[in-house]
Amino acid sequence: MSLATARAALQFGSRLTEGSCGIVFFGGEPLLHKGLIRDVVRSGRDMEREGSGRFHFKITTNGLLLDEEFLDFAIREDVLVAMSFDGVQEAQDRHRRTVDGGPTYDLLLPRLRLLLARRPYASVLTVVNPDTAPFLARSLAFLQALGCRYLIVSLNYAAAWTERSLGVLKEQLAELGKLYVQWTQEGRKFYLSPFEVKISSHVNRHCHRKERCELAQRQLSVDPQGYLYPCVQFTKAGPDSAWCIGDLASGIDEAKRARIHAESERVKTPCADCAIVDRCNNSCGCLNWQTTGSVHEVSPVLCRYEQMTLAVADRIGKTLYAKRDPLFLHKHYNAAYPVLSLLEEAGDETPQP
Ligand code: SF4
Ligand code: SF4
Repeated sequence: MSLATARAALQFGSRLTEGSCGIVFFGGEPLLHKGLIRDVVRSGRDMEREGSGRFHFKITTNGLLLDEEFLDFAIREDVLVAMSFDGVQEAQDRHRRTVDGGPTYDLLLPRLRLLLARRPYASVLTVVNPDTAPFLARSLAFLQALGCRYLIVSLNYAAAWTERSLGVLKEQLAELGKLYVQWTQEGRKFYLSPFEVKISSHVNRHCHRKERCELAQRQLSVDPQGYLYPCVQFTKAGPDSAWCIGDLASGIDEAKRARIHAESERVKTPCADCAIVDRCNNSCGCLNWQTTGSVHEVSPVLCRYEQMTLAVADRIGKTLYAKRDPLFLHKHYNAAYPVLSLLEEAGDETPQP
């Protein structure tokens, strides 16, 4: 993407949101384009000084090009940096290889330590494949011990999951649930993505569905040529597809946007009579489209994963609630918890150089 297109995207986002606009760099490894990212962030900060918009920038990197210099920049310009890391060596080296096929664990562990030293609350993204599922609980325990507090676990839904590997995943999620209970009882503060939202969907049952994704409503993706799509996966379909909903120069085609939104709001297949539909993450149009080719058809793997995580999350909640665990109650029953956590995190972050 050219800087001119990126600047046009900032202006477009600023007009659209009339205030606070989140900008996420996506598509491959963003740090291959450090110079462009710096220029885009500086342009955004210039626009803020001129009173046109407020931007929150975020990057997820594989860590290969992460260094002190870029972190200095990210901290100075308030850019959130998250890193992908799959955990113990057996898991990390299985799929995360260098371009010439080499392992990355030894190479990237120091980068992860560096990130955590500078940004203790950085998110760490762990992707689980059928062949790395056996290491899931050990990997998350390893990352937690390393100091990672925001642990985001994401399943590779498109992988070749079998009954056997799903069975392993179920066992590992149960182990992870025990770790959640243990860490909470030890007073550790953390965010563990498979379970937090599920626990919250029990505690805040009546407003949970209101927070679900609404495809093409609150998020847009811009491709390098400036064409607009409802979310990241759809950029692959290209400007001539039904998923392109306009471009930066002429704006959003509202009829197309409304059609895509309406399609994504249809009752999902096979969810019509499911007892846990209100607590299920079946609304991600990106994921549904990527795995089934339709925004309203859910992947069977996602369906199984949702059922597994919900069962473990409910066990966690039941155990910690019965014990009246103070940290658990604070985290899930105190409406002020997110704000208090943010204040604490701001105090813990390394001062700007
Ligand atoms: S658990 Fe499966 S059937 Fe139930 S709502 Fe989720 S995806 Fe649909
Ligand atoms: S479609 Fe999926 S990835 Fe896109 S914003 Fe919604 S939940 Fe997120």
